[in-house]
Amino acid sequence: MALAVLILSVPMEAQSQNKRTKEKQVKNVIYMIGDGMGLTQVTAAMLAKESPLALQDATYVGLQRTHSASSEVTDSAASGTALATGKKTYNGAIGMDENKQPVESVLAKSKKAGLATGVIATYSVTNATPASFVAHNESRGNEFEIAEDYLDSDIDVFIGGGVKFFEKREDGRNLSEELKAKGYTIGHSMDEVKNVTSGRLGALLADNAMPTIKQGRGNMLPEATAQALTILSNNSSKGFFLMVEGSQIDGGGHDNNPEKVVLELLDFDAAVKVAFEYADQHPGTLVVVTADHETGGLTLPEKDKKAVPEFSTKGHTGTMVPVYAYGTGASAFTGIMDNTDIPKKIEALMKLK
Ligand code: MG
Ligand code: ZN
Repeated sequence: MALAVLILSVPMEAQSQNKRTKEKQVKNVIYMIGDGMGLTQVTAAMLAKESPLALQDATYVGLQRTHSASSEVTDSAASGTALATGKKTYNGAIGMDENKQPVESVLAKSKKAGLATGVIATYSVTNATPASFVAHNESRGNEFEIAEDYLDSDIDVFIGGGVKFFEKREDGRNLSEELKAKGYTIGHSMDEVKNVTSGRLGALLADNAMPTIKQGRGNMLPEATAQALTILSNNSSKGFFLMVEGSQIDGGGHDNNPEKVVLELLDFDAAVKVAFEYADQHPGTLVVVTADHETGGLTLPEKDKKAVPEFSTKGHTGTMVPVYAYGTGASAFTGIMDNTDIPKKIEALMKLK
């Protein structure tokens, strides 16, 4: 009798333990960055939208400190580098530490581990935030050099603006042709993007920045996110790392334009919805949504019982920004974090070296 119980209980125990391990292991990461997305920007979007934001479905929420190595108020290069590599650096640096030494990003480490990788942005793919995941340069302004780093990155998918940095170069090189020779499909429209379901894709959809939502960008960001998830999940059975940037919330802050802030944030939130739904359907997927810094010093003082947007600067501010997490491993993203902690937590959950 005792022996029978023992025989029966061993496989059951092993089975349940195996299931628990599977659920805990993070296989896919969708890392989403709202450039300039402070807590007030999120609140303004909540007030503008009648139904809840996708972000409100986040199961764990934390706060992030954003200061750089050179200033209490970061730029998007130093904060992008911190969020990508876990290293503080000076404002302007792309994927380099304070001593101008290249540092490896979580995307590069994912690629090394055999995962599929991608970046999506609504500004150029050579702009500071996506560049921090792919390139190494002492200055964010060197976008023609940053474009060259895409050739060496082995990245599976990149979608955003930046045709001129790849194809209209003073050195006469056409990096899109060089990428094609490396096996990439190069597209210049969302229709072309939607035709690709596996393999390598580089989509350059505007000369530099993508148009704003108000200028007619449409659903490019959520649609590109959905398509990239299809491609990346087809490209590697080991999993993937995807960075998605809502790049132009920042521009709304710099322009002190509350309508732009809200429209760009709602567009980013539509991409968050795509990511959360993917995580629901694919256990082992972690979604982390955060910002690189706040832009505009946005507040919402009361006027006639309404919370009215007011800005305090045309630049960035040093205030903490929110961190939202969803899916497998989400519970690690609570409390007050440094921006450099986020990639370290992701790498630990993915078991990257
Ligand atoms: Mg950016
Ligand atoms: Zn900015």
